Amino acid sequence: MVANYQDKPLPTEDAVSSDWIIEQLSAELIRQEPVLGHDFIAIGRMSRITKGPEGMRTVFFGLRCDCDTSAIVSFEVAVDKARSQVMEALPQTGQRFFSQLRTFRQMPCSAHNSFRIGSLNQT
Ligand SMILES: [Zn+2]
Repeated sequence: MVANYQDKPLPTEDAVSSDWIIEQLSAELIRQEPVLGHDFIAIGRMSRITKGPEGMRTVFFGLRCDCDTSAIVSFEVAVDKARSQVMEALPQTGQRFFSQLRTFRQMPCSAHNSFRIGSLNQT
């Protein structure tokens, strides 16, 4: 007899880890904009060590301009969210990332230089 594990997702496989979110979000970004999507660089280390609000997991992606200025965009997920719930939030998150990318790109480099490492996050 072979037990059917397919129907019973293991808790570890179902866990929403930072790496998993980064993987899914990267794929979503490339799905939405096959060329621009590659401009988002996942900052895995920062995403894993971050201590945000209790029960939240935050992943970070960096954007870079030719003038060497970086901007960081982030996506916050409650740790008790199921993978399917995170997946549902991805399309909207992708759109937000691209609008932040456009804001960053439309800014002249003189403005970039004035904040150097800035954050485009809307809080
Ligand atoms: Zn610039």
